[in-house]
Amino acid sequence: DTPQTRDPLAVLRHVYGYDSFRGKQAPVIDRVVSGGDAVVLFPTGAGKSLCFQVPALCRDGVGIVVSPLIALMRDQVEALRQLGVRAAALNSSLSPDEFSEIRRLLNQDALDLLYVTPERIVTPGFRDMVASAKIALFAIDEAHCVSQWGHDFRPEYRELWQVADLFPGVPRMALTATADPHTRDDIIERLGLHSAEVFTTSFDRPNIAYEIVERDQPRQQLLRFLSRHKGSSGIVYCLSRAKVEETADWLNEQGVRALGYHAGMDRAVRDANQDAFLKEEDLCLVATVAFGMGIDKPNVRYVAHLDLPGSVEAYYQETGRAGRDGLPSEVWMAYGMTDVIQRGRMIDGGQSSDEVKRVERAKLNALLGICETAGCRRQAILAHFGEAHPGGCGNCDTCLKPVETWYGTEAAIKALAA
Ligand code: ADP
Ligand code: MG
Repeated sequence: DTPQTRDPLAVLRHVYGYDSFRGKQAPVIDRVVSGGDAVVLFPTGAGKSLCFQVPALCRDGVGIVVSPLIALMRDQVEALRQLGVRAAALNSSLSPDEFSEIRRLLNQDALDLLYVTPERIVTPGFRDMVASAKIALFAIDEAHCVSQWGHDFRPEYRELWQVADLFPGVPRMALTATADPHTRDDIIERLGLHSAEVFTTSFDRPNIAYEIVERDQPRQQLLRFLSRHKGSSGIVYCLSRAKVEETADWLNEQGVRALGYHAGMDRAVRDANQDAFLKEEDLCLVATVAFGMGIDKPNVRYVAHLDLPGSVEAYYQETGRAGRDGLPSEVWMAYGMTDVIQRGRMIDGGQSSDEVKRVERAKLNALLGICETAGCRRQAILAHFGEAHPGGCGNCDTCLKPVETWYGTEAAIKALAA
C-alpha cells in the first residue's frame, strides 16, 4: 500500500508554530518524506532535529531515533509532548510497566517518534518490539559516534541498521555537526549510506572571534581574557577535575563569580551549577568536557580553553557553544608546546592499537596546525572540515594582529629543549 504523507510545511506551522524552514531543512525533509536516505552535516544549532522529526510526522508509522544521551533524549521527548507529538524514549531507566506501555503503543501505531539509546538497540527485546511495528524512518543523531574519528565513539550505533535491514525501503538518516572529511567518509562507509544524499551547509560561525595564545602564566592570562567579559556568561574548559575545582576557587577569590562542573561532582551540586549557568547572565562555568553536549544556552559570550582539546572537532564543538544567538562572542585558548609533547607521548605509550594511535596522532597534529598557523584561524579551522575560506576573516587574532612567524617556532624549540 502507498504510504500516506502529510505536507511538511503544514506540519512545521501547525505542530511547531514556525513560519518557514531554515537553511537546507526543506530539501532534507523532502528527500526523506519521499523515501530517500540522507546524511545531514549541519553545524550545531542549525536545526537538525526537525530534519527527522518532521518527516516522521509526515510519513505513516513511527520514526525511530538513536541518540547517545539519556538526558538529551528526555528533553526532546518532553518538548515534543508539549507540542502534542506522541513521543517516547526507550532507555534502561524504564520500569517493566513503562516498557510494555511503549510496546502497546507501537503495536497500535500510536507513536510518532521513539527515541532509543545505543545500549537498547542491541538487545533482542528491542528488535522484537519493533518487528511488527509500522516504521516511518530510522535516524541516527550525533552520527559521528560511529566513527573513531569522531570524539565520542559508540560502536553500538551501527547495530541500528541490523534492525533497519528488516524494513527495506524505509528511509535512513545520519545527522551530525561533525563534518571533517574523515568522519564524514567513515559515517557513510560504516553505516552503508552510499546511496544517501549528503546535505551540508557552511560550518563558519562568523560571530565567533578566535584567539589562541602561547601559555606562560595561564591564570593571569585567563583573568585578562575574562576581564573583557564582565557581566556576561561563558565557559572555561579544563582537562582534569582537580583543575576545574582549583580554577573555579581561584576565580572566585579574584572576584569572578565561577562555578564548577565535572562528572565526579555530587550530582545535585552539578545539576544546580548547570541550572545556574543556564539561567544567569553573569556566571563563569569552569568545566571538563563532560559539560556541554545538548546544552542550548543562546547567550554564551565566551569559551576559554586552559588545556588543548582532544581534536579540532572537539575544539570546534566546544567553542561552538558560544554565540548561538548570533551576537559577537569570543573564544580563547592558551596552549603550551610541553602539553603537545606530553600528549604525543601519552598516545605513543598507550595501550591502543596502532590504528587508533595513528588516528590520535593525526588529530593532535591537525589541532596543532591550527594553533601554530600564522594565517587566518578561521580559514584553517574550516579547511579542516573540507571547506574553502578565502582567509583574512578579520575576526581572529592572526588577522587582527598578525603574528611574527618565528614566534611559534621558537616556542617549539624551547619546549623540545626542556
Ligand atoms: P541541532 O540539532 O542542529 O544542533 P536543534 O535541532 O537542536 O539544532 O535546533 C536548534 C534550535 O533551532 C531549536 O531551538 C529549534 O527549535 C530551532 N529551530 C529549528 N528549526 C527551526 C525553524 N525552521 N524555525 C525556527 N526555529 C527553528
Ligand atoms: Mg541536535
